Amino acid sequence: MDERLRQDLANWLEFYQELGIEEFYRRDPAAIVNAGPLPPLAAPVTGSRNDAPAGAPARLSAEPAAPAVSPPRDEAPPAAAVAAPIRPPAASFSLFETPAPKPTGPETLEQVRADLGDCRRCKLAGGRKNIVFGEGNPHAELVFVGEGPGADEDEQGLPFVGRAGQLLNRMIQAIGMKRQEVYICNIVKCRPPGNRTPERDEIETCSPFLFRQLETIQPRLICCLGAPAVKTVLGVKEGITKIHGQFYDFANSKALATVHPAYVLRNPREEKILREDFEKIREFLKRR
Ligand code: URA
Repeated sequence: MDERLRQDLANWLEFYQELGIEEFYRRDPAAIVNAGPLPPLAAPVTGSRNDAPAGAPARLSAEPAAPAVSPPRDEAPPAAAVAAPIRPPAASFSLFETPAPKPTGPETLEQVRADLGDCRRCKLAGGRKNIVFGEGNPHAELVFVGEGPGADEDEQGLPFVGRAGQLLNRMIQAIGMKRQEVYICNIVKCRPPGNRTPERDEIETCSPFLFRQLETIQPRLICCLGAPAVKTVLGVKEGITKIHGQFYDFANSKALATVHPAYVLRNPREEKILREDFEKIREFLKRR
């Protein structure tokens, strides 16, 4: 390598290291030649800077970008001279720029769903057939939060469509409501293998999407079905049979804990707990 080029390169590397940028990679020269003109620099080269080494790029700043300074394509410099680190990022990105402001106003459920995407954030993704995001009225007064999809839910991509779901539907009808009026979701959106309880890391990864759903819907009442939902939504660790039927504050909503319908299917004598708690839901929603 030409000695002057080597020195220039050393200066550039030192300059970036002083900025705390340690990792460099080299792009395929062919890709660079085919890539079209380089984007404009993020900041002008001021010339008056005496803290940058000879041959170093302009420091990035939030000042208006200088016009593009890129060599004509047929004068492409040798590969070593166009190694990625010696070209500052494009004007569209600056370390010193504030990130684009988030859109203001409440999110929609569609936006939350879009953000979830084809989620691979936790290990449940590997075993699922379908993401079970949630279903129902986006303006529901009443939201049910279960634990996680089972086999039927995984198959159909819908919450509470198996036997536990049928019991839930009956309970909803028993208080004079229709399933379409409420919103139903879970603390995790993918089926845990063998219907095991979701693990802590899975809940931590997935529950932000639940909280965004609740924030979007702003229901009057959230009904947590079973201990994992109670613990996730309310942070309450006491046994469900002890705290069921009690009302808690949750943001601008109220929340109530009850037993999971699947528990009632396994322990039919406990159905009275579910019935009593649903009566409380009915009473609560009657009040204005
Ligand atoms: N059990 C749950 O907790 N959620 C479902 O969606 C179905 C069964």
